[in-house]
Amino acid sequence: MSAPRLVRGGARRIGAVLVGAGRTRRPALGGRGPSREQHSTAVGAGQPRWFAWRNPASGSGERIRAAAQAGRVVLGSRRSSHLTRGATVATTTPTPPTLETDVLIVGAGPTGLYGAYYAGFRGLSTVVVDVLPQAGGQVMALYPEKEIRDVAALPSIRGRDFVANLVEQAGAFDPTYLLGRQAVSLVHEDGEPVVTLSDGTVVRARAVVLTAGIGTPTPRPLPTGEEWLGSALSYFVVDPTVHVGQDVVVVGGGDSALDWADALGTIARSVTLVHRRAAFRGHAATLERVRNGATTVHTDTEVVALEGDLASGRLEKVVLETKAGEQVVVAADHVIAALGFISDLGPLREWGVELSGRSVAVDRAGRTSLPRVYAAGDLTDHPAKVKLMSVGFGEVATAVNHVAVDLDPDLTLFPGHSTDGAA
Ligand SMILES: Cc1cc2nc3c(=O)[nH]c(=O)nc-3n(C[C@H](O)[C@H](O)[C@H](O)COP(=O)(O)OP(=O)(O)OC[C@H]3O[C@@H](n4cnc5c(N)ncnc54)[C@H](O)[C@@H]3O)c2cc1C
Repeated sequence: MSAPRLVRGGARRIGAVLVGAGRTRRPALGGRGPSREQHSTAVGAGQPRWFAWRNPASGSGERIRAAAQAGRVVLGSRRSSHLTRGATVATTTPTPPTLETDVLIVGAGPTGLYGAYYAGFRGLSTVVVDVLPQAGGQVMALYPEKEIRDVAALPSIRGRDFVANLVEQAGAFDPTYLLGRQAVSLVHEDGEPVVTLSDGTVVRARAVVLTAGIGTPTPRPLPTGEEWLGSALSYFVVDPTVHVGQDVVVVGGGDSALDWADALGTIARSVTLVHRRAAFRGHAATLERVRNGATTVHTDTEVVALEGDLASGRLEKVVLETKAGEQVVVAADHVIAALGFISDLGPLREWGVELSGRSVAVDRAGRTSLPRVYAAGDLTDHPAKVKLMSVGFGEVATAVNHVAVDLDPDLTLFPGHSTDGAA
């Protein structure tokens, strides 16, 4: 079973894994990647409107891990490539590529990342796609700074470190990451699944493992200032270091808003937290830390205007208005609207896979109603379902082991122990 193969395309691409790649070249190496500016210009066709791209980072070992810890985009897999060394990237994509792989994993949340490890452990080449510009699913999008305490052998671990560990673990087998693009359609050709992504990339897989969690998350929009999206307004923090020395306004009253105010408090020049209600919904201990820190907190207050030079993307101030109608102007370089996400299965609903409410129905092996399509993690439903990460890890290991045997009946279901060999 081989590494993913590029079978068509080869144009230089923005925000993708191909930088001057040729036929049959391994497709997934981000190298230095495009600059932030280049990425900004690339957001467009096929990408959700709300993306705020950051510098991607990739390369081997520690750089991938560091990128994941920082929440930065990881494009491609672990080895750097002569294809990308010092490469510049063009801004158009004449021909979307077609990739071939043993396993396509849809969703780079905790379940999908562990699935990528397991598929590699079973000798299967793997492509992982996610609509978000970062790996980590709900953990990175909603609670990267929280301590996770209920995963075996990890008494307490910060969300972003947990995800970085998963990325590092999967990296042992060099999976190909296609981040920032949605899986929009699935058909079968000659009995094998073919998935098309929002940027036109086609992935032909021998099997698909759906680990799409609660679906495609769409941020709740800030009522004003949408025109600043992609420059001075973002819906979540991909890379906290971008805000070093900035005046940052965080909007929201839940865990994400509190987490970001707390985390940025030590690196930003100033943090202003704005919530339209009197009471916060987020964790009391985090709120206490925020209130005791340098953050200025405005409750019963809304953002009514973002002002600055829109053409250059340079924000100068944000106008707030209290419930009493009083206006307050605060200096601001960046606004983070942490107002939560609305998640929806989106295109998966149209794929003809049997659903169980808002979830995908699976059997005990993780098989869905579609041939060669499996599912695991929060996405799935079965009579014994418990939606926890530790459960998702078991489910995806089960599903991938069945994938291995379904693809090659000579194999045994039991994979052997990881301690038996180098991995
Ligand atoms: C605040 C909070 C705290 C939590 N704390 C804990 C805890 O302490 N312990 C615990 O076990 N669980 C906890 N959870 C739940 C835990 O985060 C989930 O169980 C876990 O994230 C599920 O992982 P997953 O990979 O199955 O799905 P997700 O994390 O939802 O990842 C799914 C990924 O699929 C992507 N996706 C969806 N559709 C598509 C598509 N069509 N194309 C491409 N990509 C797609 C999404 O963008 C997402 O990145 C918590 C949840 C929240 C909100």
